[in-house]
Amino acid sequence: MAKKSIFRANRVANESVSGWLDDHAVVVEDGLITAIEPAAKLSSAGDSYEVFDLGDVSLLPGLVDAHCHMHCSATHDAQALALTENVQQLTIRATNNMRKAVLAGTTTIRDLGSRNEVAFAVRQMIEDGHVPGPRLLLAGTPITITAGHCWFFGTEADTADQVRTAIRTQVKLGANVIKMMATGGMFTPTANPRKPQYSVEQLKAAVEEANRMNVPIVTHTLSAQGVRNVVDAGVDQLIHSRWYHADPNKGLDYDPDTVKKMVDQGQWVDPTLGHHLLGQEAKAKGEVGPMSPHWAVSFKVVPEAEHVETLMNMHDAGIRFTTGLDMGMAYGTHDRSAASAWAFVETLGWSNWKAVHAATAGTAEALGLAEKVGSLRAGFVADLAAFVGDPATSIRDMDRAETVVQSGRVLKLGGTVLV
Ligand SMILES: [Zn+2]
Repeated sequence: MAKKSIFRANRVANESVSGWLDDHAVVVEDGLITAIEPAAKLSSAGDSYEVFDLGDVSLLPGLVDAHCHMHCSATHDAQALALTENVQQLTIRATNNMRKAVLAGTTTIRDLGSRNEVAFAVRQMIEDGHVPGPRLLLAGTPITITAGHCWFFGTEADTADQVRTAIRTQVKLGANVIKMMATGGMFTPTANPRKPQYSVEQLKAAVEEANRMNVPIVTHTLSAQGVRNVVDAGVDQLIHSRWYHADPNKGLDYDPDTVKKMVDQGQWVDPTLGHHLLGQEAKAKGEVGPMSPHWAVSFKVVPEAEHVETLMNMHDAGIRFTTGLDMGMAYGTHDRSAASAWAFVETLGWSNWKAVHAATAGTAEALGLAEKVGSLRAGFVADLAAFVGDPATSIRDMDRAETVVQSGRVLKLGGTVLV
């Protein structure tokens, strides 16, 4: 394609991703946006630019997703596969998953736990232009305790010293972010989700080490004590942030004082609600549905509505949410990042624009990319996703994109894949 391009659409997101500019065009040169202009002003530009008239679509910045596992299968046997498949098999699936993700319009992804041999190689192949895929921020392997959550593709580290070594190793390999499993998880039968995996002192060592190496640190956190620990230690962001009581006979143990501290510390949360939404919908359609909570949780099953209530309280208190599908877990297919925004609207009652903003500029800010992606403005990377219909009135119109542009390169045009 020509170096200079114009992408015209009936609806183009404004700079703050809060409303439409009618009949506008995005001007792109050398992979960057150089201007957003009313289409009428550009009527004679066809001589020097290649013009893509996308017509009656909604043109947004490429979507940003803060939570992916690139080599996981998004099926119920995701754990078994991650355990038994070799690196070649996992790499092939990861490559395909990243292709699916970017062709759906998700142009930036933070992967929060995949095997090192897979994650760094796949990113290199994408960056070198050999395979299509999103811009990737990588944690590489998650850091967990022995037999802890996701141990089968994690780095096992039990002491503060081992945690420090694990963080240094990940950064040495090219990690942009550190992911720690602060509590057990549903995915791993040997890891109790209601109990912390690390003490505050161990987490503080991790935070200190990550800060020293200038990488953010985020934690998988399912239990109230786990949340307290990571908040005390000062990690940058929390994933899930559920409030399971340590006693499996009890429900949740929501703690407003800890939430206040989270607000004061500016800790973002990925509530992974899109993933829950997709699981519930599958169940309603007669599919298997989400896994039943395992032994450590199951004495008292906590209704989804109680989790939602705690998330609403957290958000009302001032905590900001990222989109993050937990791609790769059952039902969280890599082409469905938009489901996080659907859940914000349908489960939490947000406005459509607030959810669209979270899926673009908001999560870009959380990832430290606010000056680069997540908004259509001059100087930003030309990552574009065009959707049929209007997500401002019908949030589910933001689903798999019809046209995708990444760094100015057209990957998909009017539904036709070009790569
Ligand atoms: Zn995850």
